[in-house]
Amino acid sequence: MKQSVKLIAGNWKMNGLASSLVEATALKSALEADPADCRVALCPPATLIAQMAWQLRGGSIELGGQDCHAAASGAFTGSISAAMLADAGARLVILGHSERRAGFAETDAVVAAKVEAALQAGLEPIICVGETLEQRQAGQAVAVVADQVAGSLPLSLADQAFAVAYEPVWAIGTGLTPSLDQIEEVHAAIRAALIARLGPAGQTAPILYGGSVKPSNAAEILAVPEVGGALVGGASLKAEEFIGIIRGA
Ligand code: PEP
Repeated sequence: MKQSVKLIAGNWKMNGLASSLVEATALKSALEADPADCRVALCPPATLIAQMAWQLRGGSIELGGQDCHAAASGAFTGSISAAMLADAGARLVILGHSERRAGFAETDAVVAAKVEAALQAGLEPIICVGETLEQRQAGQAVAVVADQVAGSLPLSLADQAFAVAYEPVWAIGTGLTPSLDQIEEVHAAIRAALIARLGPAGQTAPILYGGSVKPSNAAEILAVPEVGGALVGGASLKAEEFIGIIRGA
């Protein structure tokens, strides 16, 4: 399948204070000195997006949120809407991360509603899917991610920019990664599920891999067929490490 330019996105999770903005400016400088062959995005905590957007202005790094509410506005104390993320300077938003699915009881239907909200606000969603260790050991990995794709992706995505991230839950933050064959198998299954769900529009959306990506394994993972980029957690916090992954694309 023909792939467009790869997307390497950093998910800072609940890490980062104003003092961490130096990492974003260090990344900007590194990419100015030697531009990346891929799209690069940072998804910091929502509190840092506006300030980071200001610091990175004029550069190539895109910004994203890590979640949004499904409603456009209203009485949802503590929540952040997609329009608020866009207003702060985000162009992307991670949705359905396994930490949200598990820790905040987000079902496929909730994720799909958030995807709709993101599209309404003009954001490009990165929709996460992935199996638990128990599901993999039971031989259910492909079926689980295919179900998540079918349930989490609204049909309105068909004419919109979006990405899917395959993130095996057992690989996130553990240092463990699937074999390259396992990544290839699941990415092929996600591609088939995308086409089944969205028709020809499902042919081109990048399918990122996420889960313990680091400079030493990035190039081989990014070379796997149908891997259209990476969603990177811990290794995106330090510019020096993240750039090592970006150079693998
Ligand atoms: C993630 O949380 O999206 C992730 C991939 O984390 P890590 O790279 O730290 O495994």
